Amino acid sequence: MSPEPFAGPFAGAVVALVGAIFGSFANVCIHRLPRRLSVVRPGSHCPHCGAAVRWFDNLPVLSYLLLRGRCRSCGSRISPRYPLVEALSALLFLLLWWEIGWSRELPAYLALFEALLIISFIDLEHQIIPDVISLPGTLAGVLASLFLLPHGPLWAVFGGLVGGGVLYAVGVLGGVLLKQEAMGGGDIKLMAMVGAFLGWKIALLTIIFAAFLGSLTGGAMLLLLRHSRRTPIPFGPYLALGALLALLAGNTLLAWYFDLFLG
Ligand SMILES: [Zn+2]
Repeated sequence: MSPEPFAGPFAGAVVALVGAIFGSFANVCIHRLPRRLSVVRPGSHCPHCGAAVRWFDNLPVLSYLLLRGRCRSCGSRISPRYPLVEALSALLFLLLWWEIGWSRELPAYLALFEALLIISFIDLEHQIIPDVISLPGTLAGVLASLFLLPHGPLWAVFGGLVGGGVLYAVGVLGGVLLKQEAMGGGDIKLMAMVGAFLGWKIALLTIIFAAFLGSLTGGAMLLLLRHSRRTPIPFGPYLALGALLALLAGNTLLAWYFDLFLG
């Protein structure tokens, strides 16, 4: 890594803190977007007693630990999802900053993966991927290609078409083979967003990684929990994790692949 103007453990701590604060906002989106509530108003409040959460009870991760996971007013349990999302967001910021460094791409990638984090937890809870994130997200990818990404808008549009299109084709094929809906429309729009930000190669790799991770855990759940094969398993979190792996390992893997077969 080249010498950075702002690097080292102190910079890392600041990046993680900013990530945790964005994670706090991600929690608001995860709770409110599927319920069609405003993410701006009102301020954070307890869903049980309605008491407003004061700023010193709203510190990422720390407040949850200090309050031992309970509302200060009524004592009802706060979901462990709150500190989990805040910690994951901090880790995500740290990981992407570590990998990419201070560059113009960094804010674009942070925005993409924060959106994927929000989508993953909404998909886990409600089995939906809200268009209100993925559609403006796809447009944001095309806009980012004009200012932040190393490639131009044609590359972003093509990436979006390949990402969404391949998943759509997989869904049609799966529907014919399994005689049930194999791929939700939300997953297709999610992949259009991923493709617009990361390009068609990383998008294809994302789908391969997600299918691999999904069949691994799907098989494990079938064995361990005797989970019915008909139980829908949300695919959004796998696509999100697949996109992260594809971005981090993708260029190395793709170079190796193209060397092997075309080199
Ligand atoms: Zn309460």
